[in-house]
Amino acid sequence: MVTAVKIAGLQPVSMLDWPGKLAAVVFLKGCNLRCPFCHNPELVLPQKNGRFLDLAEVKQQLRLKEHWLDGVVVTGGEPTMHADLINLLKEFKALGLQVKLDTNGTAPELIKALIQQKLLDFIAVDLKTQPAAYKKVVKKSEAGEQVTATVKLIAEHNLAHEIRTTVVPELVSEEDVLEVAKLLNFFGLKKYVLQQFNPQVVLDPSFKQIKPWPGDYLKEMALKCNAYVKTEVRGVR
Ligand code: SF4
Repeated sequence: MVTAVKIAGLQPVSMLDWPGKLAAVVFLKGCNLRCPFCHNPELVLPQKNGRFLDLAEVKQQLRLKEHWLDGVVVTGGEPTMHADLINLLKEFKALGLQVKLDTNGTAPELIKALIQQKLLDFIAVDLKTQPAAYKKVVKKSEAGEQVTATVKLIAEHNLAHEIRTTVVPELVSEEDVLEVAKLLNFFGLKKYVLQQFNPQVVLDPSFKQIKPWPGDYLKEMALKCNAYVKTEVRGVR
């Protein structure tokens, strides 16, 4: 029985969160990181009087759409902060739904357990930068080793995936994304996404002043990364 997972929201249908699939999106509250460029601060910071959804309520909504939903995307915040994530995903699997997990990749042991219990059909991992530079971006140097372990697990279990980096000027350089591309190549991973930084909603208000890289520059970076792993650009208008 799921008791401790804080379900902050449910989007009943999305065509954008799992490419090629019609999926519901479940948002879990809380995160172990504080990326200054985070565009979901309301899911990261503690709030007084936060309202959470009952699992029964969520399952009822999913059941109403089970004939045409392919799956459910579990996102955050950071879903792996919740020790009961395993039971939550079992509940979704029991409804006959495929599961995609969006994660920052800092909980390789939990992710390993999810893979071993066949609870994941797809994983999207946000690599904030190259592992050696994590301290600069999220102030936690151990996170670099943790995300490397997650990338290795994905490779070992041949799990469908995409790895994404939000390319924030002043934090993430061209060298950083090339090092990520080399890492993915080393482990034989198949897909890398460079996301455009969006300063409109950010955790650290000072990041509102940072101008995103020009789209053409991101595309140039992606071309260079393509030498190592198939790379696409997202969020450029
Ligand atoms: S960007 Fe992701 S990992 Fe970073 S603080 Fe926001 S939810 Fe957490």
